Amino acid sequence: MTTVQPFAAGELAGTSAEWTARYQHAVMNTFGTPKAVLVRGEGPYVWDADGTRYLDLLGGIAVNVLGHAHPTLTAAISAQLGTLGQVSNFFASPPQVALAERLIALAGGGPASRVFFANSGTEANEAAFKMARRTGRTRMLALEGAFHGRTMGALALTAKAAYREPFEPLPGDVQFLPFGDTAALEAALTDDVAALVVEVVQGEAGVRPLPPGYLAHARRLADEVGALLVVDEVQTGIGRTGRWFAFHDPELGGGVLPDVVTLAKGLGGGIPVGAVLALTERAAGLLGPGQHGTTFGGNPVATAAALATLGVIERDGLLANVRQVSGRLVEALVAVPLVREVRAAGLLVAIELGGPVAAEVAERALAAGFIVNPVTPTALRLAPPLVVTWEQVATFVDFLAGLPADVASPTPSREAR
Ligand SMILES: *Cc1c(COP(=O)(O)O)cnc(C)c1O
Repeated sequence: MTTVQPFAAGELAGTSAEWTARYQHAVMNTFGTPKAVLVRGEGPYVWDADGTRYLDLLGGIAVNVLGHAHPTLTAAISAQLGTLGQVSNFFASPPQVALAERLIALAGGGPASRVFFANSGTEANEAAFKMARRTGRTRMLALEGAFHGRTMGALALTAKAAYREPFEPLPGDVQFLPFGDTAALEAALTDDVAALVVEVVQGEAGVRPLPPGYLAHARRLADEVGALLVVDEVQTGIGRTGRWFAFHDPELGGGVLPDVVTLAKGLGGGIPVGAVLALTERAAGLLGPGQHGTTFGGNPVATAAALATLGVIERDGLLANVRQVSGRLVEALVAVPLVREVRAAGLLVAIELGGPVAAEVAERALAAGFIVNPVTPTALRLAPPLVVTWEQVATFVDFLAGLPADVASPTPSREAR
Protein backbone atom coordinates (compact mmCIF):
# COMPACT_ATOMS: atom_id res chain seq x y z
CA MET A 1 0.00 0.00 0.00
CA THR A 2 1.36 3.44 -0.88
CA THR A 3 1.09 6.22 1.66
CA VAL A 4 -0.73 9.18 0.22
CA GLN A 5 0.23 12.63 1.46
CA PRO A 6 -2.95 14.67 0.93
CA PHE A 7 -1.53 18.12 1.66
CA ALA A 8 1.59 19.87 0.38
CA ALA A 9 4.43 19.92 2.91
CA GLY A 10 3.80 22.76 5.37
CA GLU A 11 0.40 23.63 3.87
CA LEU A 12 -1.33 23.32 7.24
CA ALA A 13 1.55 24.53 9.40
CA GLY A 14 1.39 27.84 11.26
CA THR A 15 0.90 29.50 14.62
CA SER A 16 -2.46 30.47 16.06
CA ALA A 17 -1.70 34.13 15.37
CA GLU A 18 -0.83 33.41 11.73
CA TRP A 19 -3.99 31.37 11.14
CA THR A 20 -6.19 33.96 12.84
CA ALA A 21 -4.79 36.69 10.57
CA ARG A 22 -5.35 34.54 7.47
CA TYR A 23 -8.87 33.64 8.69
CA GLN A 24 -9.80 37.30 8.80
CA HIS A 25 -8.80 37.76 5.17
CA ALA A 26 -10.44 34.62 3.81
CA VAL A 27 -13.39 33.52 5.96
CA MET A 28 -16.62 35.51 6.08
CA ASN A 29 -17.06 37.41 9.32
CA THR A 30 -20.26 35.80 10.60
CA PHE A 31 -18.82 34.41 13.84
CA GLY A 32 -16.54 37.19 15.12
CA THR A 33 -12.90 36.55 15.94
CA PRO A 34 -12.16 32.85 16.56
CA LYS A 35 -11.40 32.05 20.19
CA ALA A 36 -8.57 29.72 19.18
CA VAL A 37 -7.23 27.80 16.20
CA LEU A 38 -7.58 24.09 16.87
CA VAL A 39 -5.51 21.47 15.12
CA ARG A 40 -6.21 18.14 16.78
CA GLY A 41 -8.24 16.34 19.43
CA GLU A 42 -8.36 13.15 21.43
CA GLY A 43 -11.21 12.14 23.73
CA PRO A 44 -12.46 15.25 25.52
CA TYR A 45 -9.27 17.23 24.78
CA VAL A 46 -8.27 19.47 21.87
CA TRP A 47 -4.97 21.20 21.06
CA ASP A 48 -4.44 24.57 19.42
CA ALA A 49 -1.90 25.47 16.75
CA ASP A 50 0.57 26.55 19.44
CA GLY A 51 0.37 23.20 21.24
CA THR A 52 -1.87 24.30 24.15
CA ARG A 53 -4.28 21.64 25.41
CA TYR A 54 -7.91 22.39 26.36
CA LEU A 55 -10.59 20.31 28.03
CA ASP A 56 -13.45 20.63 25.54
CA LEU A 57 -16.55 21.13 27.67
CA LEU A 58 -18.58 22.37 24.71
CA GLY A 59 -17.97 19.43 22.34
CA GLY A 60 -18.45 21.36 19.11
CA ILE A 61 -21.74 22.66 20.61
CA ALA A 62 -23.25 19.40 21.83
CA VAL A 63 -21.96 17.51 18.79
CA ASN A 64 -18.91 15.40 19.66
CA VAL A 65 -20.71 12.91 21.86
CA LEU A 66 -17.85 10.39 21.59
CA GLY A 67 -15.17 13.06 22.05
CA HIS A 68 -12.56 13.69 19.39
CA ALA A 69 -10.89 11.17 17.07
CA HIS A 70 -12.82 8.22 18.52
CA PRO A 71 -11.24 5.07 17.05
CA THR A 72 -14.54 3.23 16.42
CA LEU A 73 -16.11 6.24 14.71
CA THR A 74 -12.96 6.90 12.69
CA ALA A 75 -12.84 3.28 11.57
CA ALA A 76 -16.53 3.24 10.61
CA ILE A 77 -16.21 6.41 8.53
CA SER A 78 -12.99 5.29 6.85
CA ALA A 79 -14.36 1.85 6.05
CA GLN A 80 -17.56 3.27 4.58
CA LEU A 81 -15.77 5.96 2.57
CA GLY A 82 -13.35 3.33 1.32
CA THR A 83 -16.31 1.20 0.22
CA LEU A 84 -18.98 3.63 -0.97
CA GLY A 85 -19.23 7.32 -0.11
CA GLN A 86 -22.09 9.07 -1.91
CA VAL A 87 -24.80 7.70 -4.17
CA SER A 88 -27.56 10.41 -4.39
CA ASN A 89 -31.11 9.71 -3.37
CA PHE A 90 -31.92 7.91 -6.60
CA PHE A 91 -30.38 5.00 -4.70
CA ALA A 92 -30.61 3.44 -1.26
CA SER A 93 -27.73 2.14 0.84
CA PRO A 94 -27.66 -0.30 3.77
CA PRO A 95 -26.38 2.17 6.42
CA GLN A 96 -29.15 4.62 5.52
CA VAL A 97 -31.90 2.04 5.90
CA ALA A 98 -30.37 0.52 9.05
CA LEU A 99 -30.07 3.97 10.66
CA ALA A 100 -33.69 4.85 9.88
CA GLU A 101 -34.83 1.57 11.49
CA ARG A 102 -32.59 2.12 14.50
CA LEU A 103 -33.80 5.69 15.11
CA ILE A 104 -37.45 4.66 14.90
CA ALA A 105 -36.82 1.86 17.40
CA LEU A 106 -34.89 4.11 19.79
CA ALA A 107 -37.57 6.80 19.63
CA GLY A 108 -40.34 4.29 20.30
CA GLY A 109 -42.16 4.87 17.02
CA GLY A 110 -44.56 2.28 15.60
CA PRO A 111 -44.51 0.57 12.20
CA ALA A 112 -46.01 3.63 10.48
CA SER A 113 -42.94 5.74 11.37
CA ARG A 114 -40.69 7.09 8.61
CA VAL A 115 -37.40 9.04 8.56
CA PHE A 116 -36.12 11.80 6.30
CA PHE A 117 -32.36 12.46 6.40
CA ALA A 118 -30.85 15.93 6.15
CA ASN A 119 -27.40 17.37 6.82
CA SER A 120 -28.00 19.69 9.76
CA GLY A 121 -30.45 20.77 12.42
CA THR A 122 -31.72 23.74 10.50
CA GLU A 123 -32.42 21.51 7.49
CA ALA A 124 -34.26 19.00 9.64
CA ASN A 125 -36.46 21.79 10.99
CA GLU A 126 -36.93 23.21 7.51
CA ALA A 127 -38.28 19.83 6.42
CA ALA A 128 -40.57 19.75 9.46
CA PHE A 129 -41.84 23.21 8.47
CA LYS A 130 -42.67 21.91 5.00
CA MET A 131 -44.42 18.90 6.53
CA ALA A 132 -46.54 21.27 8.58
CA ARG A 133 -47.57 23.16 5.43
CA ARG A 134 -48.72 19.88 3.92
CA THR A 135 -51.42 19.61 6.58
CA GLY A 136 -53.23 22.29 4.55
CA ARG A 137 -52.96 24.74 7.44
CA THR A 138 -50.43 27.57 7.68
CA ARG A 139 -50.53 28.75 11.30
CA MET A 140 -47.51 27.69 13.38
CA LEU A 141 -46.82 28.04 17.09
CA ALA A 142 -43.36 28.26 18.65
CA LEU A 143 -42.12 29.41 22.04
CA GLU A 144 -40.39 32.56 23.17
CA GLY A 145 -36.67 31.82 23.51
CA ALA A 146 -36.85 29.16 20.79
CA PHE A 147 -33.89 28.42 18.52
CA HIS A 148 -34.58 26.24 15.51
CA GLY A 149 -31.91 27.32 13.02
CA ARG A 150 -30.91 29.95 10.49
CA THR A 151 -32.45 29.15 7.11
CA MET A 152 -35.58 31.15 6.32
CA GLY A 153 -38.15 28.60 7.51
CA ALA A 154 -36.17 27.54 10.58
CA LEU A 155 -35.47 31.22 11.30
CA ALA A 156 -39.18 31.98 11.13
CA LEU A 157 -39.53 29.57 14.08
CA THR A 158 -36.62 31.17 15.95
CA ALA A 159 -37.60 33.84 18.46
CA LYS A 160 -34.48 35.98 18.80
CA ALA A 161 -35.11 39.40 17.23
CA ALA A 162 -31.43 40.01 16.39
CA TYR A 163 -31.38 36.85 14.25
CA ARG A 164 -34.75 37.49 12.58
CA GLU A 165 -35.06 41.19 11.94
CA PRO A 166 -32.36 41.66 9.27
CA PHE A 167 -34.11 39.01 7.15
CA GLU A 168 -37.78 39.85 7.46
CA PRO A 169 -40.23 39.15 5.97
CA LEU A 170 -39.85 35.48 6.94
CA PRO A 171 -42.22 32.66 5.96
CA GLY A 172 -45.36 33.59 7.72
CA ASP A 173 -47.93 32.78 10.26
CA VAL A 174 -45.67 31.91 13.19
CA GLN A 175 -46.87 32.99 16.62
CA PHE A 176 -44.54 32.91 19.64
CA LEU A 177 -46.07 31.89 22.96
CA PRO A 178 -44.75 32.70 26.43
CA PHE A 179 -42.40 29.88 27.45
CA GLY A 180 -44.00 27.11 29.47
CA ASP A 181 -47.36 28.89 29.77
CA THR A 182 -50.13 26.31 29.39
CA ALA A 183 -52.94 28.87 29.51
CA ALA A 184 -51.38 30.72 26.56
CA LEU A 185 -51.03 27.41 24.76
CA GLU A 186 -54.67 26.53 25.34
CA ALA A 187 -55.75 29.90 23.96
CA ALA A 188 -53.55 29.70 20.86
CA LEU A 189 -53.77 26.03 19.90
CA THR A 190 -56.93 26.17 17.83
CA ASP A 191 -58.08 24.07 14.89
CA ASP A 192 -56.30 26.24 12.32
CA VAL A 193 -52.84 25.40 13.73
CA ALA A 194 -50.62 23.24 11.54
CA ALA A 195 -47.94 22.56 14.16
CA LEU A 196 -46.60 23.45 17.57
CA VAL A 197 -42.79 23.34 17.54
CA VAL A 198 -40.94 23.07 20.87
CA GLU A 199 -37.58 22.17 22.36
CA VAL A 200 -37.96 19.98 25.45
CA VAL A 201 -35.02 21.88 26.91
CA GLN A 202 -34.27 25.18 25.21
CA GLY A 203 -30.53 25.05 24.56
CA GLU A 204 -29.58 28.40 23.06
CA ALA A 205 -31.89 30.23 25.48
CA GLY A 206 -29.69 28.98 28.32
CA VAL A 207 -30.74 25.38 29.09
CA ARG A 208 -34.37 26.01 30.02
CA PRO A 209 -36.44 22.83 30.47
CA LEU A 210 -40.17 22.92 29.79
CA PRO A 211 -42.15 22.76 33.01
CA PRO A 212 -43.20 19.21 33.98
CA GLY A 213 -46.50 18.33 32.34
CA TYR A 214 -46.27 20.95 29.59
CA LEU A 215 -45.45 18.52 26.80
CA ALA A 216 -48.16 16.05 27.82
CA HIS A 217 -50.64 18.93 27.90
CA ALA A 218 -49.47 20.07 24.46
CA ARG A 219 -49.90 16.52 23.13
CA ARG A 220 -53.50 16.40 24.38
CA LEU A 221 -54.38 19.81 22.95
CA ALA A 222 -52.70 19.09 19.62
CA ASP A 223 -54.68 15.84 19.32
CA GLU A 224 -57.92 17.66 20.05
CA VAL A 225 -57.43 20.16 17.21
CA GLY A 226 -55.49 17.95 14.80
CA ALA A 227 -52.23 19.90 14.99
CA LEU A 228 -48.78 18.33 14.74
CA LEU A 229 -46.55 18.24 17.80
CA VAL A 230 -43.00 18.81 16.54
CA VAL A 231 -40.20 18.33 19.07
CA ASP A 232 -36.80 19.79 18.17
CA GLU A 233 -34.23 17.46 19.73
CA VAL A 234 -31.35 18.76 17.64
CA GLN A 235 -29.45 19.69 20.80
CA THR A 236 -31.05 17.38 23.37
CA GLY A 237 -31.28 14.13 21.39
CA ILE A 238 -28.85 11.19 21.20
CA GLY A 239 -27.98 10.79 24.85
CA ARG A 240 -27.30 14.39 25.80
CA THR A 241 -29.82 14.35 28.65
CA GLY A 242 -28.93 10.84 29.83
CA ARG A 243 -31.68 9.28 27.69
CA TRP A 244 -31.76 8.72 23.96
CA PHE A 245 -34.28 11.56 23.65
CA ALA A 246 -35.23 14.28 26.10
CA PHE A 247 -38.91 13.55 25.51
CA HIS A 248 -38.28 10.09 27.03
CA ASP A 249 -37.52 11.70 30.37
CA PRO A 250 -40.60 11.07 32.51
CA GLU A 251 -40.44 14.52 34.06
CA LEU A 252 -39.64 16.46 30.89
CA GLY A 253 -41.58 14.44 28.37
CA GLY A 254 -44.41 12.95 30.36
CA GLY A 255 -44.43 9.81 28.21
CA VAL A 256 -45.74 11.50 25.06
CA LEU A 257 -44.97 10.45 21.51
CA PRO A 258 -44.45 13.53 19.30
CA ASP A 259 -45.63 13.48 15.68
CA VAL A 260 -42.25 14.72 14.53
CA VAL A 261 -38.79 14.76 16.14
CA THR A 262 -35.85 16.58 14.55
CA LEU A 263 -32.24 15.56 15.21
CA ALA A 264 -28.75 16.60 14.19
CA LYS A 265 -25.88 17.77 16.43
CA GLY A 266 -24.87 14.60 18.33
CA LEU A 267 -26.28 12.16 15.80
CA GLY A 268 -23.17 11.75 13.65
CA GLY A 269 -20.64 12.09 16.46
CA GLY A 270 -19.13 15.03 14.54
CA ILE A 271 -20.06 14.16 10.97
CA PRO A 272 -22.85 16.41 9.66
CA VAL A 273 -26.14 14.51 9.59
CA GLY A 274 -29.69 15.53 10.44
CA ALA A 275 -32.89 13.55 10.62
CA VAL A 276 -36.62 14.10 10.76
CA LEU A 277 -38.47 11.28 12.51
CA ALA A 278 -42.17 11.13 11.66
CA LEU A 279 -43.47 8.93 14.45
CA THR A 280 -47.20 8.97 13.81
CA GLU A 281 -49.04 7.69 10.76
CA ARG A 282 -50.36 11.13 9.99
CA ALA A 283 -46.93 12.75 10.01
CA ALA A 284 -45.25 9.96 8.07
CA GLY A 285 -47.33 10.55 4.94
CA LEU A 286 -47.15 14.34 4.73
CA LEU A 287 -44.28 14.59 2.26
CA GLY A 288 -44.70 12.57 -0.91
CA PRO A 289 -42.45 11.86 -3.88
CA GLY A 290 -40.89 15.04 -5.26
CA GLN A 291 -42.07 17.26 -2.40
CA HIS A 292 -38.73 17.45 -0.62
CA GLY A 293 -35.17 16.42 -1.36
CA THR A 294 -31.45 16.76 -0.72
CA THR A 295 -28.30 15.70 -2.54
CA PHE A 296 -26.21 14.68 0.47
CA GLY A 297 -28.91 13.80 3.01
CA GLY A 298 -28.70 10.19 4.18
CA ASN A 299 -25.44 9.47 2.35
CA PRO A 300 -23.62 6.25 3.30
CA VAL A 301 -20.74 7.93 5.17
CA ALA A 302 -22.93 10.16 7.34
CA THR A 303 -25.35 7.38 8.17
CA ALA A 304 -22.53 4.91 8.89
CA ALA A 305 -21.06 7.53 11.24
CA ALA A 306 -24.41 7.84 13.00
CA LEU A 307 -24.83 4.08 13.31
CA ALA A 308 -21.33 3.81 14.80
CA THR A 309 -22.08 6.65 17.22
CA LEU A 310 -25.29 4.99 18.44
CA GLY A 311 -23.41 1.70 18.72
CA VAL A 312 -20.69 3.15 20.94
CA ILE A 313 -23.19 4.99 23.16
CA GLU A 314 -24.90 1.66 23.77
CA ARG A 315 -21.78 -0.53 23.98
CA ASP A 316 -20.00 1.77 26.44
CA GLY A 317 -23.02 2.56 28.62
CA LEU A 318 -22.72 6.28 27.94
CA LEU A 319 -26.30 7.13 28.95
CA ALA A 320 -25.48 5.93 32.46
CA ASN A 321 -22.20 7.86 32.36
CA VAL A 322 -24.09 11.03 31.45
CA ARG A 323 -26.45 10.65 34.40
CA GLN A 324 -23.63 9.86 36.85
CA VAL A 325 -21.28 12.64 35.77
CA SER A 326 -24.19 15.10 35.59
CA GLY A 327 -25.32 14.29 39.11
CA ARG A 328 -21.86 14.78 40.60
CA LEU A 329 -21.24 17.90 38.54
CA VAL A 330 -24.44 19.62 39.68
CA GLU A 331 -23.74 18.72 43.29
CA ALA A 332 -20.22 20.14 43.06
CA LEU A 333 -21.22 23.28 41.15
CA VAL A 334 -23.91 24.41 43.56
CA ALA A 335 -21.25 24.47 46.29
CA VAL A 336 -19.14 27.01 44.37
CA PRO A 337 -19.73 30.52 45.80
CA LEU A 338 -19.70 32.18 42.37
CA VAL A 339 -22.51 29.92 41.16
CA ARG A 340 -26.03 31.21 41.71
CA GLU A 341 -28.00 28.41 40.05
CA VAL A 342 -27.37 25.29 37.97
CA ARG A 343 -29.78 24.02 35.32
CA ALA A 344 -28.92 20.61 34.00
CA ALA A 345 -30.47 18.03 31.71
CA GLY A 346 -27.81 15.35 31.78
CA LEU A 347 -24.67 16.83 30.24
CA LEU A 348 -26.44 19.91 28.94
CA VAL A 349 -25.68 22.28 31.78
CA ALA A 350 -26.09 26.00 32.41
CA ILE A 351 -24.17 27.62 35.23
CA GLU A 352 -25.88 30.83 36.30
CA LEU A 353 -23.29 33.26 37.70
CA GLY A 354 -23.78 36.16 40.07
CA GLY A 355 -24.07 38.78 37.28
CA PRO A 356 -23.35 39.52 33.61
CA VAL A 357 -19.86 37.99 33.77
CA ALA A 358 -20.27 34.88 31.62
CA ALA A 359 -18.11 36.21 28.74
CA GLU A 360 -15.40 37.25 31.18
CA VAL A 361 -15.42 33.89 32.96
CA ALA A 362 -15.41 32.00 29.63
CA GLU A 363 -12.32 33.96 28.56
CA ARG A 364 -10.55 33.19 31.81
CA ALA A 365 -11.55 29.56 31.43
CA LEU A 366 -10.06 29.41 27.95
CA ALA A 367 -6.83 30.94 29.22
CA ALA A 368 -6.82 28.21 31.89
CA GLY A 369 -7.40 25.44 29.33
CA PHE A 370 -11.19 24.95 29.41
CA ILE A 371 -13.62 25.46 26.52
CA VAL A 372 -17.04 26.62 27.74
CA ASN A 373 -19.69 28.84 26.17
CA PRO A 374 -21.25 32.04 27.57
CA VAL A 375 -24.73 31.10 26.39
CA THR A 376 -26.32 34.20 27.96
CA PRO A 377 -24.67 37.26 29.54
CA THR A 378 -25.08 35.62 32.97
CA ALA A 379 -24.72 31.90 32.24
CA LEU A 380 -22.10 29.45 31.00
CA ARG A 381 -23.17 26.41 29.01
CA LEU A 382 -21.41 23.06 29.15
CA ALA A 383 -22.19 20.33 26.61
CA PRO A 384 -19.15 18.07 26.88
CA PRO A 385 -18.60 14.76 25.11
CA LEU A 386 -20.69 12.02 26.71
CA VAL A 387 -17.46 10.07 27.33
CA VAL A 388 -16.16 12.71 29.74
CA THR A 389 -15.28 11.42 33.21
CA TRP A 390 -16.08 13.01 36.55
CA GLU A 391 -12.35 13.43 37.24
CA GLN A 392 -11.96 15.46 34.03
CA VAL A 393 -15.00 17.64 34.69
CA ALA A 394 -13.95 18.17 38.30
CA THR A 395 -10.87 20.08 37.12
CA PHE A 396 -13.23 22.75 35.76
CA VAL A 397 -15.19 22.92 39.02
CA ASP A 398 -11.86 23.50 40.80
CA PHE A 399 -11.07 26.27 38.33
CA LEU A 400 -14.42 27.98 39.00
CA ALA A 401 -14.00 27.62 42.74
CA GLY A 402 -10.57 29.25 42.47
CA LEU A 403 -11.79 32.37 40.67
CA PRO A 404 -11.55 35.60 42.66
CA ALA A 405 -14.86 36.79 44.14
CA ASP A 406 -14.57 40.12 42.30
CA VAL A 407 -14.99 38.39 38.92
CA ALA A 408 -18.68 38.88 39.67
CA SER A 409 -18.20 42.64 39.31
CA PRO A 410 -17.58 42.67 35.59
CA THR A 411 -14.84 44.44 33.72
CA PRO A 412 -16.00 45.32 30.20
CA SER A 413 -15.62 42.24 28.03
CA ARG A 414 -13.08 42.55 25.21
CA GLU A 415 -15.63 41.30 22.76
CA ALA A 416 -19.37 41.64 23.07
CA ARG A 417 -20.71 38.53 21.41
C1 LIG B 1 -28.23 23.91 16.85
C2 LIG B 1 -29.69 23.84 16.81
C3 LIG B 1 -30.39 23.92 15.60
C4 LIG B 1 -29.69 24.20 14.28
O1 LIG B 1 -28.84 23.15 13.92
P1 LIG B 1 -27.67 23.39 12.84
O2 LIG B 1 -27.07 22.04 12.67
O3 LIG B 1 -26.75 24.41 13.42
O4 LIG B 1 -28.31 23.87 11.60
C5 LIG B 1 -31.76 23.77 15.62
N1 LIG B 1 -32.42 23.54 16.77
C6 LIG B 1 -31.80 23.45 17.95
C7 LIG B 1 -32.57 23.17 19.18
C8 LIG B 1 -30.41 23.61 18.02
O5 LIG B 1 -29.79 23.56 19.20
